[in-house]
Amino acid sequence: MNFASRMSRVVASPTLRVAADADRLRRQGVDVVDLGAGEPDFGTPEHVKDAAHAAITANFTKYTPSAGVVELRDAVAHRYQLDYGVHFKADEVIVTAGAKQALYNTAMVLFGPGDEVITHGPFWPSIVDQIKLADATPVIVQTHMEDGFAIKAGPIIDAITPRTKAIIINSPCNPTGALISEDDLTAIADAAKARGIWIVADTTYEKLIYDVASHNVIGILFEKMRDRTVICSAASKAYAMTGWRCGWAIGPKELIGQCNVVQGHSTSNINSITQKAGIAALTGPQDGVAMMLSEYRKRRDSVHSWLTADPRFVCIKPGGAFYLFPYIADLLSPSGIKSSGEFAEALLKEVAVAVTPGEGFDSPGFFRLSYATSIERLKEGVDRIQRFVHTLESSGKLTAAR
Ligand code: PMP
Repeated sequence: MNFASRMSRVVASPTLRVAADADRLRRQGVDVVDLGAGEPDFGTPEHVKDAAHAAITANFTKYTPSAGVVELRDAVAHRYQLDYGVHFKADEVIVTAGAKQALYNTAMVLFGPGDEVITHGPFWPSIVDQIKLADATPVIVQTHMEDGFAIKAGPIIDAITPRTKAIIINSPCNPTGALISEDDLTAIADAAKARGIWIVADTTYEKLIYDVASHNVIGILFEKMRDRTVICSAASKAYAMTGWRCGWAIGPKELIGQCNVVQGHSTSNINSITQKAGIAALTGPQDGVAMMLSEYRKRRDSVHSWLTADPRFVCIKPGGAFYLFPYIADLLSPSGIKSSGEFAEALLKEVAVAVTPGEGFDSPGFFRLSYATSIERLKEGVDRIQRFVHTLESSGKLTAAR
């Protein structure tokens, strides 16, 4: 069929594909341990759900302004003021269907044919595919497991050309869990500011940082280059609200106005009920966030130590988000399993564990394991993964662990 040429440049989201495969098996009655999902297993906090119930009861069920109600945009501003000491107004915020739409609107408004947009790999696939959907060219600067997938200023600045329109930084990063240091971000901001380049920061996992690290992305970018900064984030991960679709972009009011033009011609406002829930999440008690963080930290530490008990799984302990990103190419090479994709398929088929293959993040040889699931299921999942590896080993396809 003669689809638009842009469709030949993008593929379906691989992370959503794994979820669909796991779901199909589950519906067939298989006990799948799902370590593929990129979403919290916690319930949405009660006071947030109560606000949504109240919104329905009060018939708050009509269109709202396309950019979201002022109360919610004020609530975003108030939250960032408390958390990061920055000041901005409601007209510098647009409320979007998750961080994904915040990034998409931004891509539509800023990027076009001939533009280069720098980002770092391994990357969350939508960042790159959105650049392509906007007819611009992604320029990927690789980060490396050997130094903890650190997002370094040097190689990013080296990738700048006269065609660079923007630099997208995802910190904490999905899939690596790496954080950008404030020094590296400052250096990138200085370079970008000097050349009139935008910085788009995807801080979707900003509340999921485990070790003491100052990570004031918005504070630094606002101080250095507020007029060329866009922050894209969401209630999704921080408040266990992935399905509600509540995100936001923060930026100069002219840019936010243009995002609202795109949104006004595509989806209009996000769900009105979700907007009331979002206000409750941002302005209500934050102890649920701290509780979830401490639980994720325990899971990260446990699952990392279980997995790396077999030294053939090479894996850094990430500073943020809720993923491990182990390297398995050397482990698999004697087995006849040729790619992480084949590994993920075999894992699902043989021991019913869903993980996301590294190819989806442009990182063959790795796979992503989400620890946003209960400690019992994580233990069960890692046991099954190890059982699968032992089966390969006992069939003579792998060298035994030392
Ligand atoms: N950015 C990153 C790095 C993500 O991992 C995700 C979700 N997996 C998003 C953005 C989108 O988040 P949301 O569900 O809020 O649209």
